Amino acid sequence: HLDKFEVVIEGKDLKEKLSQYRFPYFIIDLMHWEKHTEKEKRKVALQASQSYGVIRDYLWGDRLAVTWVNEEFKKLSNFPLEKVTAYEGSTWEFLKKEGIEEVVLLDPWAGEDLNEEDFSAGAFIIGGIVDTGGTKKKTTPKIGEELEKRGIKVLRRKISLRGDIIGVPDRINLILEIVLKMILEGKPMDDAVLEVQ
Ligand code: SAM
Repeated sequence: HLDKFEVVIEGKDLKEKLSQYRFPYFIIDLMHWEKHTEKEKRKVALQASQSYGVIRDYLWGDRLAVTWVNEEFKKLSNFPLEKVTAYEGSTWEFLKKEGIEEVVLLDPWAGEDLNEEDFSAGAFIIGGIVDTGGTKKKTTPKIGEELEKRGIKVLRRKISLRGDIIGVPDRINLILEIVLKMILEGKPMDDAVLEVQ
């Protein structure tokens, strides 16, 4: 009886270990929250909630982190925030707490495409940004600059379709799904993009 019990405990430990150490965090960074209109804030919250659905299809809810979480976001987000890693502080504080020194920033303005060599990063950051007007141009690179100022190494990487970012959906949850398809299913970038369209 004891043997059987031990195996169960071991299994649980293993899943916890895998969940905590083996897989990276996928972070939605809400640094630019206040630049949004009310309507846009609702869209950010909706896309975060859809990201929770996506992460659960591939990994565990807690691998999705949301940083700069504020009261307004808590009210607008209609998914269980206790099931993800919701962090009220800045992204650099979160990364320091987790001991993560190098991250990939998903950035449409980056020079280089996301590729296999980047997959070992401790975290993948997606801007919690929704564009309805042209007011938030180049806000993603700013997330990287703020992290670099705090000593975090930032690899800026874009997702493109046949060499162009035109045709790549820019919704937070779809960017997350593309990245997960590439990392966990080994899909080539073009295939991953076409599958979420
Ligand atoms: N207005 C922002 C800018 O100019 O930087 C873009 C915001 S986009 C709606 C939301 C987020 O999705 C970005 O912060 C980025 O993390 C991600 N994203 C969108 N398109 C991307 C692409 N082609 N490659 C990499 N990341 C992308």
